[in-house]
Amino acid sequence: MLASGLLGSAAPVLADQPAKQIFGAAKLPAILPPSPIGFYSKGCLAGGIAIPNDGATWQAMRPSRNRRWGHPDLVALVERLSREAAAQDGWPGLLIGDISQPRGGPMLSGHASHQVGLDADVWLTPMPNRTLSAQERESLSATSMLKPNTLYVDDRVWTAAHARLLMRAASYPEVERIFIHPGIKKKLCDTWQGDRSAMGKLRPYYGHHYHFHIRIKCPPGANNCRSQSPPAQSSGCDKSLAWWFTDEPWAPAKPKKNDKPAPKKREIQLSDLPAACAAVASAPGPATEAQVTFGTADPIGRIAGANAASAVTASASAPMPVPGRIPVPKPRPSN
Ligand SMILES: [Zn+2]
Repeated sequence: MLASGLLGSAAPVLADQPAKQIFGAAKLPAILPPSPIGFYSKGCLAGGIAIPNDGATWQAMRPSRNRRWGHPDLVALVERLSREAAAQDGWPGLLIGDISQPRGGPMLSGHASHQVGLDADVWLTPMPNRTLSAQERESLSATSMLKPNTLYVDDRVWTAAHARLLMRAASYPEVERIFIHPGIKKKLCDTWQGDRSAMGKLRPYYGHHYHFHIRIKCPPGANNCRSQSPPAQSSGCDKSLAWWFTDEPWAPAKPKKNDKPAPKKREIQLSDLPAACAAVASAPGPATEAQVTFGTADPIGRIAGANAASAVTASASAPMPVPGRIPVPKPRPSN
């Protein structure tokens, strides 16, 4: 039990703690109805589930990061992509990179986004036809699709199956964007012969030549989820892509005149995130990871039901190691 004396003093301290420390410490998700809260780059995740480390058509990489968690719709989509790509695209299986932390939120390393359980990284390296060891999953490097020191795809590593995998991922209606290196976008623009109606969802961006990044829309009814405006209807195989092959995007930022040293960037605090994220941070978790892993029907609902039936289950569950429960502030009117 939490000592009630902690509440008054601990809550403000927690609210002033960098959010990445709080969310980076969560080992298990918040047992709340599944809900992405806030925006892809500023929010958290209630009711996340894990994709298993292994499936018939995927293996999760970098297990020590504990970022296999997502909104159930995203986890289901990644599983579906893995299965359909294996069956129809000649892509043997997905190596899955980061999704989100168990409760989403900012991370101690990497990624500005991936905070609400609607973003997933998938390697551009096909899954090998054997189960990788835990050690290999930590140390194996992904394959860049680019010719060294260029912005262009290396045809010795790029295959037609890569193109089919990417176009399939973009084709799903719930997928709003796929982030991919401009060189890869160019390759698809130049060579894809099939249906091009989803081409515009493939968004050229820095990085993303070792992996691609799937972003799904706010699920229907997710009222706390802040949506992003959809990409333009056009294919994007146009001036906006050509711009990436100029110097402008790659030029180092020019120092301004009278440049003072940049003020130290203030860390995002829990209180900077949507108000509901405080409840996500302090909500109880499940007793075990298995209870909230993809493959169990309605995992959150089952646990919530069990918790309601038995107060013992609730107290035995493992909330995040936070010093106290946080009173939930009223949502701001703008939310
Ligand atoms: Zn990503």
